[in-house]
Parts: sequence; structure tokens; C-alpha cells
Amino acid sequence: MDIHEYQAKEILSRFGVPVPRGGLAYSPEQASYRCTEIGGTKWVVKAQVHAGGRGEAGGVKLCTSDREVQDVANGMFGKRLVTKQSGPRGKLIYRVYVEEATDIARELYFAIVLDRRIERVVIITSAQGGMDIEELVAKRPDAVIRTTIEPAVGFLAFQAREIAFAIGLEAPQIAEASRIFRRAYRAFRDLDATMLEINPLAVTGKGDIVALDAKMSFDDNAMFRHLDISELRDRSQEDSRESHAADRGLAYVGLDGNIGCMINGAGLAMATMDMIKLVGGEPANFLDIGGAASPERVLKAFRAVLHDEKVKAMLVNIFAGINRCDWVAEGIVAAFKDMDVKIPVVVRLAGTHVEQGQRILRDSGLPIISADSLADAAEKVVAAVNSPAAGADA
Ligand code: GDP
Ligand code: MN
Repeated sequence: MDIHEYQAKEILSRFGVPVPRGGLAYSPEQASYRCTEIGGTKWVVKAQVHAGGRGEAGGVKLCTSDREVQDVANGMFGKRLVTKQSGPRGKLIYRVYVEEATDIARELYFAIVLDRRIERVVIITSAQGGMDIEELVAKRPDAVIRTTIEPAVGFLAFQAREIAFAIGLEAPQIAEASRIFRRAYRAFRDLDATMLEINPLAVTGKGDIVALDAKMSFDDNAMFRHLDISELRDRSQEDSRESHAADRGLAYVGLDGNIGCMINGAGLAMATMDMIKLVGGEPANFLDIGGAASPERVLKAFRAVLHDEKVKAMLVNIFAGINRCDWVAEGIVAAFKDMDVKIPVVVRLAGTHVEQGQRILRDSGLPIISADSLADAAEKVVAAVNSPAAGADA
């Protein structure tokens, strides 16, 4: 689960990481009022969306009067901000954050991530903050420092000091920076975060260190013990197809193609998507219906796939071990009864109770295209999506 920058800053601040003074606004008038509250003569207006790269996309603007803050905010509200990370549809702006402008002397990079390969938390830092980390790793791999945390002992003071030295901080700042790093780590660990990124971590003209930007993501499986964090969820920033499926307990990932997929097992789902691509198609989603899926669950999954209007054909690929082909078939028949299914549906069943499953589909008299192997199924669904009947361009 992702949260907004202002929420991440509030959390960091609670753990003792310095952040600029700021206030949230839901309207241009509130934005301008925030200037009076904050004081000073320069402010930054920041679009609150779940995507980085806002600066380059016009989502971060420096202003020198409250009038200007109001105008800038007015230009942001209701728009969809498209950034490098937002996806082509962009993310809706309906909150902006107004902050006192910071006089930046240096921009550093600081992040905490999980490295699944080595099964450790890793701290990533660089003296070259500001630009995004992918770009930094590509252009200046030598400028990126990785520090591994041993879970039994945690993030040690000497490691924090080493990092502070390595990113070129001056002697008087070393102690303060090390404290900030370890407080950020405590926030990450105590709240079951999976990612924390402060980019830039700024050194001000006066030599203070502040988190100018903040991004945090949390482990969904740990949210049951962090009610205060789960309340920060903002559905307006999520893919509606994914939240619809997640609410129904389905493992669904939205993609950009037009072939809807309903598959059992993550491995088979990946293989099926590869096969669709190999024969020239584009999957609309990843969906694993899981083991022992009841007809009701299959029906729910079917609905989740069709919830996406881009879907022009559907591929059901089931290799039943724990699952039962007859239950899957019952679910498919129920889906056709329940919904007005206008698109071609290709079904490949194999494994437990396959004969019963195929009989149910045959006897239903429904226009289901049956396939007998993964390759066959992928070819048939790609052919179906390209036929004029599927609504593809003639
Ligand atoms: P992002 O583009 O979504 O990562 O948004 P950031 O919050 O990181 O802002 C982008 C860039 O705007 C930063 O790297 C800074 O260079 C600049 N910026 C943000 N806040 C301030 C500020 O208070 N003062 C100045 N001078 N620049 C700022
Ligand atoms: Mn940033």
C-alpha cells in the first residue's frame, strides 16, 4: 500500500526526521490560506499523487506570493498528472501540499528497501540526489552506496556514520545525519514498510538536513496491526480494476492489453502471459484464482476480468491439481448466465475432473471456444481478439 508525500512526512516527523513546515489543501483558497499560516515569502505547491517524477511533470511549483500559490493550485486541482511513474492515464490531483520553500545547498538520496534476493533490508544512499534512482543507477552506478542491515542487530550507529561520510557530509553534520538515518530506519521497521525513499534529502544553505520529499509503501499483509496506517489508503490513486479484485480476495494485476486472463497458479499465469505475447497478443491482466476455487470464486474472477472495458477476449487456462475442472466449468456457465458476455471466451481445462468439466461446458450450449493445450489456447484467443466480431479494428 502506498501513501501520499504529506502523510509520509507526517510519519517521518513523528519519528524525529526534520521536514519543512507545510499544510494540506483541498481547494485553491485553502492553499493560499496555508501561506499565511506557514509564514515566509516563498512556498512550494506540490501535487499529492501516488507517483514520483512530479517535478518534471509540473506537479511541483515554486511560488513567491499567496496569490500565485492560489493560481498554481487552481491549475492543479481536478487534473490528472502524468509522470514517468504514473502510467499513461495519470493520477488525479485532489489534494495539494503547500510548504515553506527550502534554500537547497545539496540534494542527497536516501532510501530503505527490501532486497528479496539476499533477504535483507538494504539502505541505498547517494551524494547525487534529485534525479530518480533508476537514472542514477544507470548513469552513475559508482555513486550509489548500498548498506545491508543484519536483522539480528539492526542498523548500527557506525553504519549510519559511514554513510554520512561517504555521501560527503561535513563534520558538524555527520552526527545529525546519522541520527536522521536511524530514525528513518526505525519508522520503516516499526511500521512494516516495504519502501521508504527520501529524494531529495536536502542540505540547506544554513547546513541543516531536511527531508524535502518522502515516499513510503507498506506491507499489505501487516496492515491488520497498523490501523492508523491502513486509514491512509487513498483509493482514488489506485487502479480501479485492482482495488475491485483485491476487495474480493483475488490476486489481480492490471495490464495494458486487451486479452483478459483467468488462470490458476501464479507460475501458470506467467507462462500463459508469455505465450499470449509470443503469438502476438497483449494480456489485459494477471489473475490467479488460486487453489480449490469454488464456482462462486470463478464467477467473481470472471466479473473482475470483465470489469475492465478494454478486454476484447478472454482466456481461461486451468491446470487442476487441487482445483476441479467441473467447478471451474460451473463457474463459467454461471458467469454466462449472470452477465451479458459479448466477447469470445477460450477455455483450456486439464487435470482433475477434466471430463466432467468439458461435459458441463459442452452441454451448456454456450459459444465457448475450447482449446487443448496452452499454445493452442493462446493462438485461439489471439485469433479471436483479431476477428471483427471481437470489436477489433477491421
Ligand atoms: P518528485 O519530482 O515527485 O520527486 O518531487 P520532489 O518533491 O522531489 O520535487 C522535485 C524537485 O523540486 C526536487 O528535487 C527539488 O529540486 C525541487 N524542490 C522541491 N522542493 C523545493 C524547495 O522547497 N525549494 C527548492 N529550491 N526546490 C525544491
Ligand atoms: Mn522526489
